[in-house]
Amino acid sequence: MDTKVSGKDLEAMLTYKLDHIAKKDKSIVDKSFEFCEGYMDFLGQAKTERLANETIIDIAKANGYVEFDPNEYYPAGSKVYVNNRGKSVILSTIGREKVDQGVRIVASHIDSPRLDLKPNPLYESQDIALFKTHYYGGVKRYQWAAIPLALHGVVIKKDGTKVDIHIGEDAGDPVFVITDLLPHLAKDQGERKMRDVIKGEEMNIILASLPYDDEEVKEAVKLQVLVLLNEKYGITERDFINAELEIVPAGGARDIGLDRSMIGSYGHDDRVCAYTSLMAEVETKDPEKTTVSVYADKEEVGSDGVTGLHSDFLEHFIMYISQMQGVNYLTTLRNSSCLSADVNAGFDPTFADVMDPRNSAYLNKGPVITKYTGSAGKGGTNDSSAEFVAEITNLFDEKGLFWQTGELGKVDQGGGGTVAKFISQKNVNTVDIGVPVLSMHSPFELVAKIDVYTTYLAFLAFLDR
Ligand code: MN
Ligand code: MN
Repeated sequence: MDTKVSGKDLEAMLTYKLDHIAKKDKSIVDKSFEFCEGYMDFLGQAKTERLANETIIDIAKANGYVEFDPNEYYPAGSKVYVNNRGKSVILSTIGREKVDQGVRIVASHIDSPRLDLKPNPLYESQDIALFKTHYYGGVKRYQWAAIPLALHGVVIKKDGTKVDIHIGEDAGDPVFVITDLLPHLAKDQGERKMRDVIKGEEMNIILASLPYDDEEVKEAVKLQVLVLLNEKYGITERDFINAELEIVPAGGARDIGLDRSMIGSYGHDDRVCAYTSLMAEVETKDPEKTTVSVYADKEEVGSDGVTGLHSDFLEHFIMYISQMQGVNYLTTLRNSSCLSADVNAGFDPTFADVMDPRNSAYLNKGPVITKYTGSAGKGGTNDSSAEFVAEITNLFDEKGLFWQTGELGKVDQGGGGTVAKFISQKNVNTVDIGVPVLSMHSPFELVAKIDVYTTYLAFLAFLDR
C-alpha cells in the first residue's frame, strides 16, 4: 500500500535543528551545577598559567599520576605527567594498544589574556608609585581600567631562589588598579579609536602613595614600595629583570543570573577546556588507545616559545612513549587524532550582527565543533577534513552526547586561531571543539554550566573508549 509521508515527518527526518539541552534532558541541569562547583574552585586557583600548571599537577598526583621518566617502562593503565618548565603540562594514561595504533590527544591552553610587568616596571610620578605593563594577548585595553586587579608571579633572585608573589585574591589583601579619565575631562579621549581609548603605555598600575620617611630621598614613594617588597620578599629593584609578574582581574568565579545557570569569571578561555579535559583524563582508567592531554602555555600570543605548542615538547613525549614500546613515532603520529580544545564565540543577542545565526554556537547547546578557524578567507586555519569531522560527530551521536557546530563570527568580520594548526602540522588529524563563551577575552567572561558539563562528557567519550 502506498502511504504518503507527512511533511511534518519529512521535516523531522530531513532537517537539522538543535534545541536548548535542558529542553531535551532536564536531569542535565543538576549534574551540570554539581560539576561546575569544582570548575569554579579551579578558576579561583588557576589565575595564571603557572598556577594552572601547579593545580593540574596537584590534581593529577592525587589521582595516581607519576612524573614521566623516559628511561622507565610504563605498562597499560599507567598514569604519567610531564611538567614543561612549570608553564605547560602533559598528562597521559597508557592504553591497551601499542601507541603506533595512534594516541588520542586533547590540547587546551592554560594562559589567558593579561598584563605583564615590564622588566623595569617601577617608577614614581607626582608622589604616586606605579608599575609599567605590557599587555599579553588580544585585550580590549579599556576593559582593564578602573577594575580591581591582582598580582601573581615569580621572581628569581640572584642566588637562584624563586620567590612566589600573590597579592589581591584573599579577602584581606589590597588590590591594584589602572586609572581612567573622568567623563568631565574626556573630550579628547572620546575622539580616540576603540583600541586607543586606553593606550598601551597608559596601562599603568597604581601601587602606592606614601613616602619613605627621609627628606634626603628624592623618590620616596618608590623607595617605600621597594622597602615593603624587600621586607616581605627579600627582593630589590634589580630582581624585576628576572621575574614574570602578571596582572589579572582580582577575585574568583561567580554564578550569573537569577537561575544561576551561568558562570562569570576571568580566564574561561581556555581554562574551561583545560578543566573539562583534565576531569575526563583523570577519569579515564583503562583506555584502548593511550591518552595525551596537553595543557599548553602561550596560545594567546601565537603558541611560540618553549612552553607553547609551536615548541616540540608534545612531539618529544610522543617520541619517548613510542621508543618505550619499540615502535616508530612517525607511525604513532600518523595514526593519532586530536581534539584542539578551545573556546569559541557564543551568539550574543546584543551583538547579533557580527554572527551568522545559522553558523553560530549558542549557550546551552553543548560543546561547539569548529571545522575551521582563521580569517580573511580561512587564512591560517587547520580546516579539518570531512572524514575526521564525521568520525568525531558520529562518535558523539553513538554515545548520545550533545554537541553543536559554529564558526567564529561572520565571514570577514575578523577571525582567530587556535593550537589546531600546530598539531595537524605534525601529521595528526585535528579538529577544534570547546565551550561557547560570551565577552571572550574580557576580564569577566561568561559561559553556561550545561556547556561546561557537556564538554566534559565529549572529552570523556573521546579519551575513554
Ligand atoms: Mn583560547
Ligand atoms: Mn583566546
